[in-house]
Amino acid sequence: KKYVYDFHEGTSDMGLLLGGKGANLAEMTRIGLPVPGGFTVTTEACNQYYKEGARLWKELRKEVLEHLVTLEEKMDKKLGAVNNPLLVSVRSGSPISMPGMMDTILNLGLNDESVKGLANVTANPRFAYDSYRRFIQMFGDVVLEIPKYKFDHILENKKVEKNIEEDTKLTAEDLQEIIEKYKAVIKKEKNADFPQDVKEQLFMAIEAVFRSWNNTRAKVYRKLNDIPDTLGTAVNIQSMVFGNMGETSGTGVAFTRDPSTGENRLFGEFLMNAQGEDVVAGIRTPRPIDELKDSMPKAYERFNEVANLLESHYQDMQDIEFTIENEELYILQTRKGKRTALAAVNIAVDMFKDGTLSKEEAILRIDPLQVEQLLHPTFDEKALQKAVVITKGLPASSGAASGKIYFNPEDVVHANSRGEKAILVRIETSPEDIEGMVAAQGILTARGGMTSHAAVVARGMGKCCIAGAGEIKIDEVAKLFKVDENTYKEGEYISLDGNQGIVYEGEIATEESQLTDNFLELMTWADAIRRLKVRTNADTPRDTKQAIEFGAEGIGLCRTEHMFFEESRIFVMRRMILARSQEERRSALEELLPMQREDFVEIFKAMGDRPVTVRLLDPPLHEFLPHEEEDIRQLAEKMQISYNQLQGVVNDLKEMNPMLGHRGCRLAVTYPEIYEMQVRAIIEAAAIVKEKEDFDVIPEIMIPLVGELKEFQYNKDIVLKTAKAVLEEKGVQLQYLIGTMIEIPRAAITADEIATEAEFFSFGTNDLTQMTYGYSRDDAGRFIKEYKEKNILEKDPFQRIDRKGVGKLMEIAVKLGRETRSDIKLGICGEHGGDPDSVEFCHILGLDYVSCSPYRVPVARLAAAQAAI
Ligand code: ADP
Ligand code: MG
Ligand code: MG
Repeated sequence: KKYVYDFHEGTSDMGLLLGGKGANLAEMTRIGLPVPGGFTVTTEACNQYYKEGARLWKELRKEVLEHLVTLEEKMDKKLGAVNNPLLVSVRSGSPISMPGMMDTILNLGLNDESVKGLANVTANPRFAYDSYRRFIQMFGDVVLEIPKYKFDHILENKKVEKNIEEDTKLTAEDLQEIIEKYKAVIKKEKNADFPQDVKEQLFMAIEAVFRSWNNTRAKVYRKLNDIPDTLGTAVNIQSMVFGNMGETSGTGVAFTRDPSTGENRLFGEFLMNAQGEDVVAGIRTPRPIDELKDSMPKAYERFNEVANLLESHYQDMQDIEFTIENEELYILQTRKGKRTALAAVNIAVDMFKDGTLSKEEAILRIDPLQVEQLLHPTFDEKALQKAVVITKGLPASSGAASGKIYFNPEDVVHANSRGEKAILVRIETSPEDIEGMVAAQGILTARGGMTSHAAVVARGMGKCCIAGAGEIKIDEVAKLFKVDENTYKEGEYISLDGNQGIVYEGEIATEESQLTDNFLELMTWADAIRRLKVRTNADTPRDTKQAIEFGAEGIGLCRTEHMFFEESRIFVMRRMILARSQEERRSALEELLPMQREDFVEIFKAMGDRPVTVRLLDPPLHEFLPHEEEDIRQLAEKMQISYNQLQGVVNDLKEMNPMLGHRGCRLAVTYPEIYEMQVRAIIEAAAIVKEKEDFDVIPEIMIPLVGELKEFQYNKDIVLKTAKAVLEEKGVQLQYLIGTMIEIPRAAITADEIATEAEFFSFGTNDLTQMTYGYSRDDAGRFIKEYKEKNILEKDPFQRIDRKGVGKLMEIAVKLGRETRSDIKLGICGEHGGDPDSVEFCHILGLDYVSCSPYRVPVARLAAAQAAI
């Protein structure tokens, strides 16, 4: 089996085997771009490495050495040679890009002898020793796993001693001293010398990259992004080029378009006389790519050409890493550029307009979940004008966020779990901070550029971020930061405007976002392509209006119970529940009737002639009652009964398994008058709207938690009788449908029977998943996390439909339902209705619509279009 590929042997579609970086290095080599030579050890070798008990087996070492010889011949240099030594980088690269998660080692092949050779051939001892000290430092950190600060200290001390700020000011002699101290650190920590055998260096480095696949931050990143652990990483061994050779050399990264807005122009940063990580590490502040035009016009021109070529070759915005060695340009990496949702939409539409992409291709370019970012509020303009500006940084990732200041990721996580909104304020972020970044509303850093870790990761997460706000002076020990004379302490509110890069004092009110023309245009393309209709889950007139703005074509689920939780209503609801006779219950229901009717009138009006599915009361009654002693006392007083009496009723209503207890249509079997009131409210409201407006409302009345035909019949009977009575009283004609949720497995497998009576099905996939797996919705979070960690579950089935099991039941219900009633209306109203993968599944099943929360409506519209392409 072949485990090593020369860059000449690969293409861009071999990403699974060569990793993204390796495949693209091969592709760029193939199309003749200036890529330093090298070879790739495959991801299969990584997996085999673990199978071999985490060691490099003999045949692999041999294969690597064979490719090394080829590379040496090509470069006419030899690894470790005293004259003109070959230096290589050892770079990780997995099939799916995981920026900064794994490790890279530069300048490998230097030892006490070859460093002299390098100094000689380049006639540049400073450069040679700078390269060597970097190599020892990286090797010590990545391969030998010695804490980085032990090396950083030595470098910092030297700079202080010499009273200089920049590394570039250190002389060859300074660097030699530093190297000796570095070696001493290694000796002390590892009780062994820094390895002088260059092949040994190479193998140790390859192993370290394989190991880095399983470091904590890589694992966390994979879990967050649903990247399978089984992919493995490839290792690229590449001949070094040097950006640290002096003032005609440099290194940088650039996007072919602006990753925040999508604007079509080169966007990036570079540093002169620098190597690799310097740009992203935020140690020196890099310069905007445009300035390269002045410092090195030829190299800039060439880079511009290559950037255009790469974008049109890949037909997508590229993120490119380059190095200039003595004015000569080399390309070290290209990949699809991460971008904000705003940029993604603008780029896709622009690329359609310039003929690069078809409408379908443009739609497929957008991650539907990312679209939600565009819908979220921005700061209220008026509030913003009054707000006090603290400072300005780089607008690294768009959005608006307010929260309390915290200075380390753990504190953010804790604040978040207390329900606080937090802003992570940090000198710069590193991959270990990832969990804190996830939990934060926004991120503010004092150092680093648009391509710093904080910026890249925040954009990927769609999180607001301001980077490189250099005026803020952070004191992590005292937990505060200062800007000039002003001090901001932990726990105080600040606000970030990620679009402008402005940091404000306090919490700022937000307003609805403005949907851009490009976005609206893209959505009309999606609407023309999709077959599935998209409805919303909404219970209030406010949500309803919002959802319509986002393109909802109806309500798939109106949960009537939410209407009872309001201050003024809950008391009447409680009186209803605590009634000791039907009489008492009816009188409380009569009071609830006008309230519900009013809600329905508003919702029907807002929805116009769009369909509205109203679900009758579903939760167990005890959910409406107080449980704390103090609250029970208060309620008892208000109801003029004794505490003990009320406590008794509350206890009576307690169930061992309330979610499997007295709820849904089971309630109406015991207390038919509850559904009678609700049906009356629905029909009366529809009649009122019909009279006032010039459209017909066709309410769809949905009976929850049905598992047995007779159960449905019993409830349907209540609905029919009540509706008939109301219509006769009012003397109006009105159409309405009666259907059911399919959320109990028994209902799914007897769907043919149920369809004899039900006019529509709506899959309640939350409960259906709960009952199919037997996982409690309310308690499963904890162990599902562990199931995912242990690879028992790939994904939380409450987030993405389990196609195999739950999906199978849906498939059966669809088939049986249609057999009985060919025109039965089919939809889904569980949380899954807003999950792109589940939307695709619903498309495949041939449902009529999906229904989801208002902010997910555009997500579902896009996902439905993608499913249809
Ligand atoms: P990451 O995946 O974290 O971006 P890379 O493997 O791309 O890591 O390496 C980081 C940086 O190191 C590159 O952007 C580049 O500047 C530098 N680098 C890597 N290989 C070489 C090389 N052969 N010559 C010069 N610089 C290199
Ligand atoms: Mg890189
Ligand atoms: Mg349910």
